[in-house]
Amino acid sequence: MSRMNVDLNSVRTMDTAQVEQGIRRILEQSLGVEPDEATPGDYWEALSLLVREINLDRIRNTRREEKDGSVRRVYYLSLEFLVGRLLGNNLHNLGIYHQAEKATASFGVNLSDVLEYETDPALGNGGLGRLAACFLDSLTTLNVPAFGYGINYRFGLFKQGFVGGKQVESPDAWREDSFPWGIEKPKRKQVVRLYGQVREVDGKAYWDDTQEVLGVPWDLPVTGYNTERVNTLRLWEGRATEGFDLNSFDAGRYQDSRFREILAENISQVLYPNDSHPEGKELRLIQQYFFVACSLADLIARYKREHEGWEQFTSKVVIQLNDTHPAIAVPELLRILMDEEDFVFTKALEICRSVFCYTNHTLLPEALETWSQGLIARVLPRHMQLIYKINYHFLHNEVEKHWPGDHQMKNRLSIIEEPNNPAEPQMVRMAYLSVIGSHKVNGVAALHSSLVKQKLFPEFDELWPDKIVNVTNGVTPRRWLANCNPELAELIDSTLKSDWQSDLARLGELKVWADDPEFQKKFARIKRDNKVALASVIDELCGVKVNPDAIFDVQIKRLHEYKRQQLNLLHIMAVYRRLLEDPDLDVPHRVFIFAAKAAPGYLVAKNIIYAINRLADRVNNDRRIRDKLKVIFLPNYRVSLAEKIIPAADVSEQISTAGFEASGTGNMKLALNGALTIGTMDGANVEIAEEVGEENIFIFGKTVEEVSDLRQRGYNPRDIYQHNEELKAVIDWLASGDLSPDEPDAFRPLVESLLDSDYFLTLADYQSYSDAHDRIVKAWKAPSYWWRMAIINTASMGKFSSDRSIVDYCKTIWNIGL
Ligand SMILES: *Cc1c(COP(=O)(O)O)cnc(C)c1O
Repeated sequence: MSRMNVDLNSVRTMDTAQVEQGIRRILEQSLGVEPDEATPGDYWEALSLLVREINLDRIRNTRREEKDGSVRRVYYLSLEFLVGRLLGNNLHNLGIYHQAEKATASFGVNLSDVLEYETDPALGNGGLGRLAACFLDSLTTLNVPAFGYGINYRFGLFKQGFVGGKQVESPDAWREDSFPWGIEKPKRKQVVRLYGQVREVDGKAYWDDTQEVLGVPWDLPVTGYNTERVNTLRLWEGRATEGFDLNSFDAGRYQDSRFREILAENISQVLYPNDSHPEGKELRLIQQYFFVACSLADLIARYKREHEGWEQFTSKVVIQLNDTHPAIAVPELLRILMDEEDFVFTKALEICRSVFCYTNHTLLPEALETWSQGLIARVLPRHMQLIYKINYHFLHNEVEKHWPGDHQMKNRLSIIEEPNNPAEPQMVRMAYLSVIGSHKVNGVAALHSSLVKQKLFPEFDELWPDKIVNVTNGVTPRRWLANCNPELAELIDSTLKSDWQSDLARLGELKVWADDPEFQKKFARIKRDNKVALASVIDELCGVKVNPDAIFDVQIKRLHEYKRQQLNLLHIMAVYRRLLEDPDLDVPHRVFIFAAKAAPGYLVAKNIIYAINRLADRVNNDRRIRDKLKVIFLPNYRVSLAEKIIPAADVSEQISTAGFEASGTGNMKLALNGALTIGTMDGANVEIAEEVGEENIFIFGKTVEEVSDLRQRGYNPRDIYQHNEELKAVIDWLASGDLSPDEPDAFRPLVESLLDSDYFLTLADYQSYSDAHDRIVKAWKAPSYWWRMAIINTASMGKFSSDRSIVDYCKTIWNIGL
């Protein structure tokens, strides 16, 4: 990292007295309160404003350092950035966490209470958005010049509550709480055009009669660990264009100017609350184009400030598309190059293909975005023309050259999907557009990338054998170990005496301690402390007392049938039945902990939540089983809740149907904090098993090949149901209405989905799953064996640092030397 001319790596710091003075100054002069009257909220605000001052200073330095234009900048385009709370993370990255702790203590307040005051910015659904946030952290830490671009949603993902055990959603107007991090940049606003029509004059296209909306940027600073670089997350907000639109009014189109206002107000209102199901909504397409258009205009303006001409564009700019959500960027850049910069089509396409890269996150057919041709043609008429142009060029030059005369192949690879029924619209396949418009395409774990090559895009892989690559996901060890588990971080610090936070592979050195009784004792003690802390959160949120000496078995992730919370549910019901049959059973106490939001329109997912809550109610109040089993569903899963659960987990449930979880990152966070995984050979679990060794993970269930064999043979869940006595009893019990006497049919959607199709093979994997749980119980009974495994898990997570992911992106995709 010596190529930097201003040394962002010589990090300046502050001592406790300086932090204390800073807090006092801001309390008195900005917030107008005396330190002895200030609430924890005031301290949070004061400390945040202090950090903001430091960040602003450093952003200026970073910009100054980059001015000479010698670097290639990474632009990460994502509809979601699940950044989590920022104060604790910033203090840590700035190296003043302990100073802040002492400074607040000197005012008689506890820093951890102060940090609790912050609201989570709810700018993402789940893994995809959290990945974007971990990547920004690592890009900055690795000193890579980078921008994140997204949308500043007014209403983030909904807040989840339970009423009688059922999920209820309420809007999360997170920005209405005080939020000192974002800085509006009105000077950098952009105009975005929509609708209208295209005229062609002398072979040149003019896109006219458009509706216009403004995009105003709102910047969040992105700090890194041990660097003075501060990158920027630029989030766009929709506004109506200023002033009265006399043109529209004169023409008697009053409706139009009003329409524009409504549109602008709506654009950045909501984050679509779906994880891996796209919404076929016009507004969603407009959101995608809006943030893409603003971001491209912004990055081109920056390029032009720093460079003459377009020659260097492809060596100075790389744009990563996080899933297909920003795929409309391909025709948008093409439009700018051709219509505004006078490039010919082939040259413009070549430029697109050297700056764009696309990350695929899913194989789920229903999650592969398509938009109807008619919708795109109406909202973005010029872009629809350009999509046809790209498609024509691709099919008639590239596909024709590789598969001469093969019309079927042209149909198969066309960006435009012809409907089976001519009454249906043609659909635009955004994934194909992304592959065709990009330089590299990556999957997010080794298994997933090989399935992307073999199942999703085999023809593209044949046509362009080097295009599809793998970069396994990762998580930032700063947030997901150092910050959320300070006791464990301290134990590691004092044991390794090396900077594992910027070189996570160093954790491997912990392996020599795995059998050391003293080290095991310390490791176990920390886990117990964290469990005591979580137990009090559970008591507060659910009113249930749990035993910190029980096994804490957690499944925390979006609720989806492919993630199979229902498999976990069926097994817990079986455990409960076993205890009722023999309350003296010699088994460890177990607490099963869930946290998950279900998409509001996803009925079976909501039904699973309701079933778990109903079961929890029954189990937690049943005196007969003497507290041997508890079931907890923590409401409103989000980053700050994950940070409390993960350090306290003993067992990590990663039980998706093989072939469906692209990577997972929750699996990495949990193993990093010493939880043992019970999981299928899916996503990054495969690589986790490889790293920790098969003897330190509880693998069960069908592999990808076995899943596909079973499907081919013809899978009938009723066969399994009929032949597995315990499973049958449990499903019958669920169907009986006993858990919901007020609503006997309540669980019919779930039961029907299990018995009629069981698309995700829950029953097929049940016995193997139950057996794996029996192995867990056995391992728990031998503590020195258990803690050895737990320590090896933490020690083996080096590969799963998002720093390693970013190094891989730099090498294999972005062509950036570090
Ligand atoms: C890590 C994380 C996820 C992703 O979890 P998976 O188990 O990989 O699906 C989702 N939501 C939040 C809040 C997270 O922190």
